[in-house]
Amino acid sequence: MMGFEKASVIIPIFNEAESLEELYLRTEAVFSGLGLTFEFIAVNDGSSDLTYKRLLELRARFPNIGIINHRANHGKSMALMQGFALAEGDVAITMDADLQDEPENIPNLLDKLDEGYDMVIGWRASRKDPLSKRFVSGVFNVITRRLLNVHVHDINCGLKVMRKDLYKRLNLRGDLHRLIPAMSQAAGFTVSEVAITHAPRKYGSSKYQLLRHRGLLDIISLTSTLAYRVRPFHIFTEIAFIAWCVFSISLVGLIFTLLIYHDSPSALYVASPVLFFTSLTFLIIGTTFPVIGLILDNLLVHFNDERWRSTLVKEVLPPESC
Ligand code: UDP
Ligand code: MG
Repeated sequence: MMGFEKASVIIPIFNEAESLEELYLRTEAVFSGLGLTFEFIAVNDGSSDLTYKRLLELRARFPNIGIINHRANHGKSMALMQGFALAEGDVAITMDADLQDEPENIPNLLDKLDEGYDMVIGWRASRKDPLSKRFVSGVFNVITRRLLNVHVHDINCGLKVMRKDLYKRLNLRGDLHRLIPAMSQAAGFTVSEVAITHAPRKYGSSKYQLLRHRGLLDIISLTSTLAYRVRPFHIFTEIAFIAWCVFSISLVGLIFTLLIYHDSPSALYVASPVLFFTSLTFLIIGTTFPVIGLILDNLLVHFNDERWRSTLVKEVLPPESC
């Protein structure tokens, strides 16, 4: 039906043994309905329950299941990265293993992707999670929309579909899976959303505590790393320039105080120490900041991320004669 030949469904799994069979069977029913070939890549992220055993049993029955086994629990971002690396589909579908984001929504997301977007994310319009969780998530969404300028309602929805161009290039560390739409959009990929149905968690329990302060820190960190056009040396030197101005003014003030008001005790014991320490502080800022900026610039040169750079390129036309 669509412009895709093969899909890769990628599932990060941490202790979700009970839901796996139902998850596979419902996904399989969806793809037979679509008439689309799919591979099912289960990434077992160091589960200590029966996940691995269940996956082996399922794989014996359904050969389109692939399993990636982490040695330990390395987190959802790393699990997704491993899945993306193995996947071969021209479209990848990421889905949580707990059946909260139901596989029956996949056709709607693929239809939207087929309109030409690079990524489509689900929007859990009537989310079946506790109020506290929805509140924290709402705040996270508002902050992300403001700081990173991504206009989707539900940036952390696990159900996403992405074209190969995009998913093969994502570079996720820490908990950056929550910001995939922001990273993709910043690189110039197009992102859209589709409302999906959402179910309460039937088995097992949530793997994340309520207050995900690291998610907020990730937003700040990503905002600064995306500002790759801004060079630290420039910013730090501009701050240093202001510091030099404050230093000069307080130094002149100090000299005047000592020359003109040297008989007044308040000038000698209050004004001049204040001016002295102000000028000293700003002298230190003015001299060290450009050096810090220069060091950061050099670090950025050495740690410049190959993969991030490749996300910025849409097409390469190599020279024809070599
Ligand atoms: N998950 C994972 N590794 C982890 C934590 C979670 O692979 O370290 C998986 C988990 O099994 C589930 C998905 O990531 O498939 C989302 O986790 P969860 O449903 O607990 O998050 P919530 O929906 O509560 O935000
Ligand atoms: Mg969940």
